[in-house]
Parts: sequence; structure tokens; C-alpha cells
Amino acid sequence: GRATSALLYIDGVSKTFDGFRAINSLSFIVDPGELHAVIGPNGAGKTTMMDIITGKTRPDAGTVLWDGRVDLTHVDEAGSARLGIGRKFQKPTVFETHTVEDNLLLALNADRGVFATLMARLTSAQATRIDELLALVRLEDRRHDLAGGLSHGQKQWLEIGMLLAQDPKLLLVDEPAAGMTDEETMRTAQLLRAIAGDHAVVVVEHDMEFVKALDCRVTVLHQGTVLADGSLAHVSAVPEVIDVYLGR
Ligand code: ADP
Repeated sequence: GRATSALLYIDGVSKTFDGFRAINSLSFIVDPGELHAVIGPNGAGKTTMMDIITGKTRPDAGTVLWDGRVDLTHVDEAGSARLGIGRKFQKPTVFETHTVEDNLLLALNADRGVFATLMARLTSAQATRIDELLALVRLEDRRHDLAGGLSHGQKQWLEIGMLLAQDPKLLLVDEPAAGMTDEETMRTAQLLRAIAGDHAVVVVEHDMEFVKALDCRVTVLHQGTVLADGSLAHVSAVPEVIDVYLGR
């Protein structure tokens, strides 16, 4: 069934903070390689849902199953990363005083120390992977530049490249388009579309033009539960969704 065929299977999950129900009987499924957008007003529970998936927050009730077999409610953040769940927070975090190439190299060797990684000779497999990642995130011509000198959008792409270096099965991306120019926003949608297939990608986003460009399944959260689910065209026509977005 769905619980075993899905990469991530969330069912009947609830989480209460000081008596306030942030997540309420939430069900959410991600299939392998799927690109999936999560939208919803402030306070809808999007961040809490990501925190539950990554083991930052433990739910009070419900099922969170990984790859049909691992109970994620007993896995912490380090454990979820080891299972293949990568998380990109909203703010870019790159090593500003290292080159773009070295940022990717450090990510490829996340299990080793910085000094050991930078002193070791690049293996040909690593060099090939770095070339692939640089092409994917469109930073080939910035390879030898310090990451600190990149634009905001380029830093976001570099960090996505760093997460991909660890070959996650699921990449969670929080509002990647925030603070980007229109062109960067569209390039980011292209990038996430290119990544999907090889990796499942869940994107939390507010920018509807960006969600439209992702052209993927959309889940609308409201008051900690799913209000609508399907294509953007479908969810945009659901009366409850229109009410929530128009504040009625
Ligand atoms: P979103 O990311 O969709 O804006 P959140 O998941 O951040 O929503 O928050 C959902 C609700 O849960 C909000 O009302 C928020 O104030 C509350 N909440 C989230 N985390 C905590 C916490 N650690 N303690 C108390 N309340 C929290």
C-alpha cells in the first residue's frame, strides 16, 4: 500500500505546543523523485511539519514512515540526515571565506574535517562530481571565487549544490525564492525541476509565480492540516483555499 510505496508517509500526525495545536491530523505523502510544493498562510504549520520530518520536533501522535520501513518519530536530526533527508533553510549558509569549488568539496567530504579535506588531493571521481554540480547550479564561471562574493541567489544555488553533494533521497527547501530577482526565481524553479527525478524535493514557498513555474503537485496547509492537494490549478479553485488566502 501507500505506506510502503511512498518515500515519506505521514498520517494522522499531531503536535501541540503549550496547548496550541500546530499540527492537527496531518497526512502528507512524498513519492521517490517527486517534486512537491507546500503552501499555506503564516502559522499554517509548514515549518513544524519540516521539523517533524527531520527529527527536530517529535510529534505527539501519528505515523511518520521513511522508505516504507523507518519510523522517523524516533530519529533525530543527525539520523535523518544519515537516512538521506537534506534540509535547506531559508537563509543561505555557505563557507564565505572558501571558494565555490571548496564549498562543494567540503560538502562531498562532510564526514571528514575541513583541514583534512582541503589538504587532500582531489580524486577524479570528486572532480567529476564537482564539475557536474557546478554545471547544475550554474556556477562554473565562479568556481575559483570566494563564496562570500556571490549574489544572494548564487549562494542559495551553491548551498543546494552542497546538499546534493550528499546525495539525499529527499531535499526539503524552505522558501528558496525569498529575496531573489525574478530571473533568479525562474532559474531556481528550473534547478529544482532538474533535481527532481533523481531526488524527491519538497519546497515550502509563498511566491505563487514560483510555485506556478515549479509546475508540480501542491499541498495547501492551514491550521496544521491539509486543506487541498493536487495541481496548482486544482487547489486554486478550492473555495476553502480561496477563503484562506483572501482572509475571509
Ligand atoms: P508556518 O511555518 O506555516 O508559518 P509554523 O509551523 O512555524 O507555521 O507554526 C505553526 C504554529 O505553531 C504557529 O502558530 C506557531 O506560533 C506555533 N509554534 C511553532 N513552533 C512553536 C514552538 N516551538 N512553541 C510554541 N509554538 C510554536
